[in-house]
Amino acid sequence: MDIEISERLNKLPPYLFVKIDQLKQKALSEGRDIIDLGIGDPDLPTPLPIVERMQEAVDKPAFHRYPSNKGRIELRSAISRWYERRFKVSLNPETEILPLIGSKEGIAHMPFAFLNEGDAALIPDPSYPPYRNSCILAGGVPYIVPLLEENDFLPDLTAIPGPVARKARLFFLNYPNNPTSAVAQRGFFEEVIEFAKINNVIVCHDAAYSELAFDGIRPISFLELAGARECGVEFHSFSKTYNMTGWRIGWVSGNADVIRALATVKSNIDSGIFEAVQDAGIAALGLPEEYQDQQIATFRRRRDILVDGLNALGWTIERPKATFYVWTKIPKGFDSSGSFSQHALAAGNMVITPGAGFGKYGEGYVRMALTVSEERLTEAVERFRKIL
Ligand SMILES: *Cc1c(COP(=O)(O)O)cnc(C)c1O
Repeated sequence: MDIEISERLNKLPPYLFVKIDQLKQKALSEGRDIIDLGIGDPDLPTPLPIVERMQEAVDKPAFHRYPSNKGRIELRSAISRWYERRFKVSLNPETEILPLIGSKEGIAHMPFAFLNEGDAALIPDPSYPPYRNSCILAGGVPYIVPLLEENDFLPDLTAIPGPVARKARLFFLNYPNNPTSAVAQRGFFEEVIEFAKINNVIVCHDAAYSELAFDGIRPISFLELAGARECGVEFHSFSKTYNMTGWRIGWVSGNADVIRALATVKSNIDSGIFEAVQDAGIAALGLPEEYQDQQIATFRRRRDILVDGLNALGWTIERPKATFYVWTKIPKGFDSSGSFSQHALAAGNMVITPGAGFGKYGEGYVRMALTVSEERLTEAVERFRKIL
């Protein structure tokens, strides 16, 4: 028989990382010594207290049954206390917090709760691909909002045409930003809230990197701002903060009506998070601040090795203020982010991510993830010296 995929699946843009992925697999199978700066997946282990809590929790038969869709109240209360401590924001754990099977899961289900066929969602470009793709899968129409270097990679809200703004139902934002590593200030979020209220658009702020910022910077929460809770939600993840990408746990907090609708979608699709993993999440939120300080110090040392090293070769890269990504223009002499990435792999045995994979405004840039050791980053700088 003919297996035909749906039109909406067909409508997804081609996965631009495929080519580099294939080349990487080929290189690995040839036994080449690859330095992988491609994936945003921390190489450091999950902290021991979290692992130990999981080991205990796995033994409890009560956790072996279906979890509740809303998540355990103990987890929601721990999240509420964390928010209070970190951002001085009080959230009602009954109505304003919903645990997710990783923040990506919640982000990708948002359009199914809020977009009707043909409705627009405002999608920054470059950006984390699930914003755009989940919108397409839900039958919506992505409206691309460019993030330009001359605007510090913040969207220019005044450049969004009025009719588009009024038709849009969702606005995805992400600061500290993947892939550009930009950080947003209070004033920007104030403009966003004003814009959201005028146009009746739900703000979906992805704060996956809120805890990873350098040089004394403490990223703010969207929910700290007056009026934020009336017009949006914020997504958080345990993945990057606690090196827990494999565990699949995150949450969304903010507007209670938005959260209720998302919970309805989810209750028809998933059956919650393994309760032992929720227990481990509670342990994570209770870790002392020194843990975070160490994590930041590790990525700061790595950042300085790579950025200072590349600058010594003649690049002009500013040290990123947050996230574990270095986002930089490709060197002169290369015509696209794809061709430079392929050259880095073919000639230097290094995987880097072509900016075009994050959207067309990412063309001309590449992203390097600081998810390898200092020794390997030093070696990467050496390899760049040889291949440029
Ligand atoms: C890694 C990442 C996430 C995904 O987090 P999970 O909680 O692991 O699903 C979300 N948003 C951005 C921007 C990311 O880079």
